[in-house]
Amino acid sequence: MPTRYDLDRDALAALLAGEPRYRVDQVWDGLHRQLAEPADLTTLPKVLRARLDEELPAALHPVAESATRDGSTVKWLFGLDGGARVETVLMHYRDRTTVCVSTQAGCAMGCGFCATGQAGFQRNLTTGEIVEQVVLASRRARDGGRRLGNVVFMGMGEPLANYDRVWPAVVRIHEDLGLSARHLTLSTVGLVPGIRRLAAEELPVNLAVSLHAANDDLRNELVPINKRYPLTVLMGACADYLRAKGRRLSFEWALIDGTNDRLSDARELAELARSLPLPAHVNLIPLNPTPGYRTRGTHPDGVKLFRQRLEDLGVNATVRRNRGVDIDAACGQLAARVELGRKQDQRR
Ligand code: SF4
Repeated sequence: MPTRYDLDRDALAALLAGEPRYRVDQVWDGLHRQLAEPADLTTLPKVLRARLDEELPAALHPVAESATRDGSTVKWLFGLDGGARVETVLMHYRDRTTVCVSTQAGCAMGCGFCATGQAGFQRNLTTGEIVEQVVLASRRARDGGRRLGNVVFMGMGEPLANYDRVWPAVVRIHEDLGLSARHLTLSTVGLVPGIRRLAAEELPVNLAVSLHAANDDLRNELVPINKRYPLTVLMGACADYLRAKGRRLSFEWALIDGTNDRLSDARELAELARSLPLPAHVNLIPLNPTPGYRTRGTHPDGVKLFRQRLEDLGVNATVRRNRGVDIDAACGQLAARVELGRKQDQRR
């Protein structure tokens, strides 16, 4: 059965056949603009509300919710149809509120340092399951007097491996939830066909490439998909994306102690960043500890030094604050607890 955000407007109109035509707008606006539950759409007759509540069930079933002590980061664990679990993280900054959404349950890309990769792939999320994460986060932000302004597709999964469901979600988030394309960021580990499809879309979203290594030998090891799309091919697609969209592109770089935080790594990274038509911005992420990967993240002093080296080489770099490390909500940690929970469940 489709869930409430799986339906597009035409499918909703078909569901509401027999009702006055304006009901379609009322329900659509209620779900997307008011962020309401069908049962709370008081402009509708009670009988219709009850019917919609039954025929348009929620996709996400809250299993757990955790928040940092200061409340600036909230993480949800949701159960999905069929038993898969995904996580969504809401982050309040001084000047903005961002949600990080999952696009797949698990991930098939197998990056060794990533908790999601360690957990393996379960299934693609539907468009409705992706949109509903944004709706719930937006509602929570609104209830706390904030406005959700940014969506980053950087949770569990590789968004471009689920392109046919992710892109309609992007369009819906833009057109119906009203977020500007400038504030939507798709991440990819380097799926070149997906980057090329993105370049042909009308909406100019931001692209974040999870690079983590700037030579093929190391990248083959850290990010196995590099064997299929090596760096020259990936950089070619990035350059074409930039030419087509004119948006800033970022490289994500999880700093792993002694592995990709050396001076030679900074030099190679700077060279790649500067080789693009618009120099890439680098986001440095100190690697978080995950249960299945022994290597440690770079020490904070090393992170500072690496950033300084990049700046000296003419590349803008930002150290991403590890928001929510105390609730496992930082990059590469989503699914650490999910998987752990699953294994514990299996043992019971
Ligand atoms: S880093 Fe991204 S692409 Fe790689 S396994 Fe983790 S979620 Fe998948």
